[in-house]
Amino acid sequence: SRREGFSAIPNVKWDDVGGLHLLREEFDRYIVRRIKFPEDYEDFGVDLETGFLLYGPPGCGKTLIAKAVANEAGANFIHIKGPELLNKYVGESELAVRTIFSRARTCSPCILFFDEVDALTTKRGKEGGWVVERLLNQLLIELDGAEQRRGVYVIGATNRPEVMDRAVLRPGRFGKLLYVPLPSPDERGMILKALARKKPIDANMDLMALGRDGACENLSGADLSALMNEAAMAALEEKLTSSYRSLDGVPWTIKDVHFKRALEKIS
Ligand code: ATP
Repeated sequence: SRREGFSAIPNVKWDDVGGLHLLREEFDRYIVRRIKFPEDYEDFGVDLETGFLLYGPPGCGKTLIAKAVANEAGANFIHIKGPELLNKYVGESELAVRTIFSRARTCSPCILFFDEVDALTTKRGKEGGWVVERLLNQLLIELDGAEQRRGVYVIGATNRPEVMDRAVLRPGRFGKLLYVPLPSPDERGMILKALARKKPIDANMDLMALGRDGACENLSGADLSALMNEAAMAALEEKLTSSYRSLDGVPWTIKDVHFKRALEKIS
């Protein structure tokens, strides 16, 4: 796509992310404060990893975290989808990799996010063949150019770390591995609260209790987002089809019944 390498500061804040507090602390230390207070890091001679791999089941907030990090640091964000880079003519993929890193350098501080990074970094000699191999080599060249990579932080995301070539997981490349798990019962509640921030949730609705409810077991953040959306939709339709809707002062909110209906729908 022509927007490949397009950069901007994302509008996702940490408040939009439910749970995942440890990851937030790690990224504050490794990226956010480093961008905000570079002299202090230099004075104390602290040298830290600049490449990260977020791995774990789908829909648990990998993309969301990467964006929140950029927002919090006031850094630009470049979103690259691994498979899109691969679907190019021979030779074009390598050029695209070079272009992307060069864009990242010119708009630093910058978070360079590689979604589905496993597509680019499958073990050599396996699935991909020589096209992937050449792409991977180019990626390694760019990752290793750490000197020119000042202010560029690279975050990869994958659901299948096991297929990735070990070589890319070394220090200086995607060197720091961070697991993004399915949410715990309490974290499900926190995610629901984060998703509810700009919605008219009923004051009697206990989202933490809903998160702990067995009906939400094994739901990912993306599932909870679908749940929230269905509940909001149910409440909205009730409002729009009610004959009382023109009455003033009737508080139309998203209530327990709407979440119950939504749970039935998504399960
Ligand atoms: P994939 O591996 O499928 O790319 P991902 O881990 O990158 O998934 P995201 O794209 O970050 O997942 O999450 C998808 C959507 O699910 C988000 O846009 C958000 O609405 C919701 N979501 C997931 N995790 C969280 C969370 N921890 N807090 C709030 N919302 C979340």
